[in-house]
Amino acid sequence: MDYFPVFLQLEKRDCLVVGGGKVAARKTTLLVRAGARVQVIAPDLCDELAALLEQKKITHSARKFEDSDITNKVLVIAGTNRQDVNCRVSELAHAANLPVNVVDQPELCSFIMPSIIDRSPVQIAVSSGGTSPVLARLLRARLESYVPSAYGRLATLVESFRARVKQRFSNTDQRRQFWENILQGEVAELLFTGRDETARELLEKSLDAADDEPHFVGEVYLIGAGPGDPDLLTFRALRLMQMADVVVYDRLVAPPILDLARRDADRIYVGKERDNHALSQENINQLLVRLAKEGKCVARLKGGDPFIFGRGGEEIATLMENGVTFQVVPGITAASGCATYSGIPLTHRDYAQSVVFVTGHLQDGSVDLNWKALAHTNQTIVFYMGLHGVGILSEQLIKYGLPETTPVALVQQGTTQNQRVVVSDLKNLETTVKAEQVRPPTIIIVGKVVELHKTLQWFNPLPGANPRPFGGTPHS
Ligand code: SAH
Repeated sequence: MDYFPVFLQLEKRDCLVVGGGKVAARKTTLLVRAGARVQVIAPDLCDELAALLEQKKITHSARKFEDSDITNKVLVIAGTNRQDVNCRVSELAHAANLPVNVVDQPELCSFIMPSIIDRSPVQIAVSSGGTSPVLARLLRARLESYVPSAYGRLATLVESFRARVKQRFSNTDQRRQFWENILQGEVAELLFTGRDETARELLEKSLDAADDEPHFVGEVYLIGAGPGDPDLLTFRALRLMQMADVVVYDRLVAPPILDLARRDADRIYVGKERDNHALSQENINQLLVRLAKEGKCVARLKGGDPFIFGRGGEEIATLMENGVTFQVVPGITAASGCATYSGIPLTHRDYAQSVVFVTGHLQDGSVDLNWKALAHTNQTIVFYMGLHGVGILSEQLIKYGLPETTPVALVQQGTTQNQRVVVSDLKNLETTVKAEQVRPPTIIIVGKVVELHKTLQWFNPLPGANPRPFGGTPHS
């Protein structure tokens, strides 16, 4: 360990910053946030420091550094563009055993400053030991995405219950277990979604109800897993997936996404191909209720967005009827993901002023749509589950007035390393699907915007890069 990490209490302590430029301003801002009394020594101040001075957050001595300036300080930072001044400050501070930092010059420092993730009162500090501030910053960016912004509020809530929990559980193991359940469970989730009062009530209830074996009720997270590329998951989706005890998923969830769930979570496949459901929708609804009532946190993963042709509404209706708490996480829907990854803007000033998402598959197997409302030359139509009925859809759109030459894109396994984009037109659509052996999952985009694919295509999957295709049988 090259450096010893500590968190300094600087509230109302005197600190010195030598330098009036942007570099000094960055450090000064942090000191001010920590409540320090900061004296800045510099002939001139940059705008940021001038603003702090105006708000009376710092004091300013408009002159050059003098040796006596370090007297009675608890911490010194130098960030001038004069090497001789920086060296002098460092030398004096070292001689006086004062912690000193000279910005970007580790050899002159007795302490270095980390990159910070500030969720006060929770703070995470990252350091590369002075070897690469950029690396530390990148790592910080990653951590930022993993640590929900509400962590500070969570810590404050915990603090207000700490004494009571300590009193309630004399045994430290029980206490630890209680807090682990609270911090990884529903109370934390309620807080992350802004329901602070309910979180407090539930914590209160959990504490009252806690016998020696704390018992927790389960919850269901209905999560939109996006169209396939794991990078398109939301931060919340990822966090909940890593928390869940059970993952219930269907055919449209790509294997690399499933890999991101907690390693030891149970995985239950509930299928759902056209006419070939591993479990019926009703049975899936009941399964979710049962698992939650067993006290499990259940991640119900759905392809794309749960509320777009995902039957998410039905699943949560059953949960609600059974008093099971849940939350829904939106995902990137196939239309949006596939269009983007094929270089097809769904709307465009010159080509389409509206876009409609429709399903090409009805419950009884027929396709019964309001073709008149769909067939507009300045509108993009996206068909989900349309492969089975391509014959009907092109016939009807032509019948209601779209030119036979209207371009159509078939995007198969969009956003994944197996993405394939086949372009045709209304007249030749059915033949193309057969000749090219287009397989589900495939989205069908109809409209003039499809012409842009030729020029705007930017995503080039590596052939054979993903040996694990997902999807179902032909024509679903
Ligand atoms: N809830 C999902 C849609 C479920 S309906 C969403 O919001 O995306 C299933 C249909 O979605 C499939 O038949 C197919 O038309 C489309 N689809 C889903 N993922 C896809 C993908 N990666 N590539 C192409 N089409 C996809």
